Amino acid sequence: MKTRTRVHIPTPLRPYVAQQSVVEIEAATVGEALRELVARHDQLRRHLFDESGRLRRYVNVYRNEEDVRHLQGEETPLSSSDTVSIVPSIAGGSQGEGGRSQSATVPGARRGPAPPAWATGEDGLPPLGPEELLRYGRHLILPEVGLEGQRKLKAASVLVVGAGGLGSPLALYLAAAGVGRIGLVDFDRVEESNLQRQILHGTSSVGQPKLDSAAARLSDLNPHVRVEAHEVRLTSENALDILRPFDVVVDGTDNFPTRYLVNDACTLLGKPNVYGSIFRFEGQASVFDARRGPCYRCLYPDPPPPGLVPSCAEGGVLGVLPGVIGVIQGIETIKLILGVGESLIGRLLLFDALALRFRELTLRKDPECPLCGERPSIKELIDYQAFCGIAPEEQAGAEAADWEIGVRELEAQRAGGEDFTLIDVREPHEYEIARIPGSTLIPLHHLPERMSELDSSREIVLHCHHGQRSMRALQMLRQAGFRKLKNLRGGIDSWSREVDPSVPRY
Ligand SMILES: [Zn+2]
Repeated sequence: MKTRTRVHIPTPLRPYVAQQSVVEIEAATVGEALRELVARHDQLRRHLFDESGRLRRYVNVYRNEEDVRHLQGEETPLSSSDTVSIVPSIAGGSQGEGGRSQSATVPGARRGPAPPAWATGEDGLPPLGPEELLRYGRHLILPEVGLEGQRKLKAASVLVVGAGGLGSPLALYLAAAGVGRIGLVDFDRVEESNLQRQILHGTSSVGQPKLDSAAARLSDLNPHVRVEAHEVRLTSENALDILRPFDVVVDGTDNFPTRYLVNDACTLLGKPNVYGSIFRFEGQASVFDARRGPCYRCLYPDPPPPGLVPSCAEGGVLGVLPGVIGVIQGIETIKLILGVGESLIGRLLLFDALALRFRELTLRKDPECPLCGERPSIKELIDYQAFCGIAPEEQAGAEAADWEIGVRELEAQRAGGEDFTLIDVREPHEYEIARIPGSTLIPLHHLPERMSELDSSREIVLHCHHGQRSMRALQMLRQAGFRKLKNLRGGIDSWSREVDPSVPRY
């Protein structure tokens, strides 16, 4: 029997349902609800279903708190009080890793009145000095932490992958809490546009390596903490060696290849992986520990195709959002080290800043998981760029170059009176900040239905902010049969830097 059901639409898919966050649908099963949804909103169809009409694997569907894969799949019946949630994988954000301290708990540690082990360290946990007693006083009076817990924190080591939006609050709180050894992996330099959310860094650090700025700030916050900087890109070649010496890994990476890499490396090494991700106004957090629960691959077996889920650089992010999610990762990390409370293992926490609402979904280990399932096929790290469908850099660069035009070349063509159409595929609020005179605005997600406005016999030059979205627009037009296409290399940002400084940069 059909009943009225509320279907929650996640932010990345809202453009395809007229920006609604909830759609009410009459349906008897989950499958029927989804098919009715795409019947009403045809643009949504390709994001939910593949060509053969099967639900895509990077889209998870829940009835209330349960993944329908663990119920009756698309046949899962609906009753009037049920809510259906669509939860795609998202990766925007910064990087960080956290988890639980294995070495922190020393078996056979004895507790005796005298001489106080906390001052001598003879029980195997590090001693605390007088300055540390004062510094950690508010922890020491918590029965759940106390002297022993504080010494466990001092003995613990946490690797934070990424000193960006999530890594910033996380590393600051871990250092403040007295986690003895904090590793940071990052190879970027501080840019002005980072400062809106990456609170580890300051205006005086712009242009410096992020790790220099982070190490200086963390050492100033707590000189008792050892900061280890790994100024490299985390790869399949170096990940196991970098992760191995840490008790807990915190993942707040901003891209899918690194997320799967961190997940796989943690699972192979038997370490907890404290997960967080952010996009616009929404965040997710969980703790993956394949020894005790699911891994990231159990949740999302396949990454979305490149370009489907925009990055924070393209889609934007509320600056304070990584604060919330990074701090939740910090809390989970510290609980794992202390061995207190109830961990997020087996639960996915969803945060919607606009609604100010937390929701929680149950995660189950997938027996078919290729990494942590009953018959694992992944026994070592793989090529994560290829797994995520990303072409190697040189190859992608060479191919892109054939379709690109530089800003000076474009300016020369304009000055020479050449005939072409300039299309801006950014969003209207970006167009309001800055535009190249003579351009026509067609936001990327409107391109499919507005292609008919374009004259394929004229040369079309596409541009966006930095050149990535317009390259996707170019590929869409190529697939539709357009041939006279160019992508403006570096986008309006290069235009403003090299051609017309009166166009504001943002
Ligand atoms: Zn798994």
